[in-house]
Amino acid sequence: MPPALDRLVKNLMRFPGVGEKSATRMAFQILRWPASVAKELAESISSLHGQIGLCSRCFTFSEKDPCSICSDVKRDNSIICVVEEPADVLAIEKTNTYRGIYHVLQGVLAPRDGIGPDDLKINQLLDRLRKEKIDEVVIATSSTVAGEATASYLMDILKGFNIKISRIACGIPMGTDLKYADQMTLKKALEQRMWVNK
Ligand SMILES: [Zn+2]
Repeated sequence: MPPALDRLVKNLMRFPGVGEKSATRMAFQILRWPASVAKELAESISSLHGQIGLCSRCFTFSEKDPCSICSDVKRDNSIICVVEEPADVLAIEKTNTYRGIYHVLQGVLAPRDGIGPDDLKINQLLDRLRKEKIDEVVIATSSTVAGEATASYLMDILKGFNIKISRIACGIPMGTDLKYADQMTLKKALEQRMWVNK
């Protein structure tokens, strides 16, 4: 393979789930594009780090600091939703149902990979709880093993604060037939059932 193509293939293989085969296919695809389109892709990648940084308050990716959510006066500043990654902020924003602010942990606890509380933005969250007037923290980490472990850890250390702590519900996905839901999901759905008559 020509060295230039080989270099691109190796770089594309950095994406999770992209092996040599798919990377080679993508590289050939790029080679077939007009040079101007390939250049636009390269420039959009190379300008990324210079233009996007972390919001110093909520630690989401943003072109300005504070980010557009933190600087929006219409947001409810008394409720913080704690998520793993900036992409989770976008996912929640798309639902159009949450009007509070966020705190991005920038990861989850993963002791096996050497990722402990100090590697996440947990101390920064505690700082915010001390300084800002917060009534409620919504823990919205994923319902994966690492996400649940992170949620438990947070629930534990947040007990010392005089604030409401909630955890997003997990249950049967919309459109799913009950008998096809996995056991763990069904168990959680039963545990987190809600009252309809009080
Ligand atoms: Zn922010």
